[in-house]
Amino acid sequence: MGQLADIIVVGAGVMGASIAHALAERQFGQVVVVEQTALAAAATGQSSGVLRCHYGIPVLAKMANQGLSWFKHAKAQYGVDVGYRGIGYLVGAGPDDEEAFRSNIAMQQALNIRTNLMLPHEAKELWPDMEVSDFAIMAYEPEGGVADPTLTATAFYEMGKQLGVRYQFGQPVTQLLTQGDRVIGVEMADGSRWMANVVIVAAGTNTPGLFDPLGIEVPIRAQRAQLMLINPGVNVGKRPVFSDLVQLQYGRSEVNGTLLIGNSDHRDPEWVSKGPCPQGVTDDFVQRAIERLMHRFPRWEGAQFLGGYSGCYEVTPDYNPIIGPSPNSGLYIAAGFSGHGFKLSPVIGPMMAEILNAGNRYPSLESYVFRLSRFEEHDLLKSQYAYGKAGQMR
Ligand SMILES: Cc1cc2nc3c(=O)[nH]c(=O)nc-3n(C[C@H](O)[C@H](O)[C@H](O)COP(=O)(O)OP(=O)(O)OC[C@H]3O[C@@H](n4cnc5c(N)ncnc54)[C@H](O)[C@@H]3O)c2cc1C
Repeated sequence: MGQLADIIVVGAGVMGASIAHALAERQFGQVVVVEQTALAAAATGQSSGVLRCHYGIPVLAKMANQGLSWFKHAKAQYGVDVGYRGIGYLVGAGPDDEEAFRSNIAMQQALNIRTNLMLPHEAKELWPDMEVSDFAIMAYEPEGGVADPTLTATAFYEMGKQLGVRYQFGQPVTQLLTQGDRVIGVEMADGSRWMANVVIVAAGTNTPGLFDPLGIEVPIRAQRAQLMLINPGVNVGKRPVFSDLVQLQYGRSEVNGTLLIGNSDHRDPEWVSKGPCPQGVTDDFVQRAIERLMHRFPRWEGAQFLGGYSGCYEVTPDYNPIIGPSPNSGLYIAAGFSGHGFKLSPVIGPMMAEILNAGNRYPSLESYVFRLSRFEEHDLLKSQYAYGKAGQMR
């Protein structure tokens, strides 16, 4: 026998913290979050924090829009600072993707998402230094931008604590405890146990390892994502996040005039099969990122590379999350957000609460599409109007 709780959440990334807060808010009983290291220590802490609604899958576009509304109003509504900066989000596609792009924008507008099509020369007003001749079509989300993932996880943590959520940091769950086909708790590295009838695993890239001993395959792999920080060498001022679907690169301007540059090219992923996520950046990444940047911003010939780091995306076969029940009664998953989960995080807690209320059924089609069984059913969650090179992350 161990300590008792009503619900155990494994993992204190932004998802675990969001879920714990939402369950406490809805009075689900004693919620305990067990985290192997520290709050937001894995993907959440490495995240670029970009907020956009530009998705090709309607349910994700809608969730991103609901998430955006939460980020915008977090300070006024909850009194928490999540570092939201509504600097806008500018995205551009080449001729091959123009038709799909226009279809996606029409779908997003039908969902009341604030996004406008733009011709490339019009976008020059937003990013005067940008070379736009290889874009065929662009779009702008005026309320998109960025928020701070660590501050956001901290906000969920603090709000949850005020409602009675307990956090235990510093040692991993080593085993999910079951009796027959139902979960009864978790065992920690020191042999201590937490017992509960409901366990929600939000352990990012480590999620499959917890399910393997139960014979449940959770197809999540770690994919390295490298980022670099540059000083453009000119004063760019306050500019929107840009997403370049031609060269598969994105950038966010920081308040101090530097830029964080990331890669959205997933055609040749670097999988990390063992051990922790690598930390630094490779010369190859830096060289290719700078080449793309110089093409997009030729005026930045005096740009300086300031440094870089890596994080790991928690990737499923369709680059979309797994949210909902597992084959074991009482055991749930919220993981595999595949490099785009931060913006959805405010919605994941309430969604998980609805799923718990519904027992082992899905309460709505919106959550059903994230079921684990879709992989063995070969019913992947895919964009109707996918882009040629950018793949499924949009
Ligand atoms: C480099 C990078 C850039 C990104 N940029 C964006 C972006 O711009 N916009 C966006 O929307 N999304 C972005 N993402 C994706 C987003 O950050 C993630 O989808 C999101 O943070 C996932 O949160 P999580 O809580 O599921 O996972 P994590 O943050 O990985 O949290 C999982 C937690 O579980 C803990 N854990 C693991 N195993 C155990 C165990 N056995 N016992 C106890 N605890 C355990 C870990 O220590 C960790 O704290 C990015 C991700 C990366 C890596």
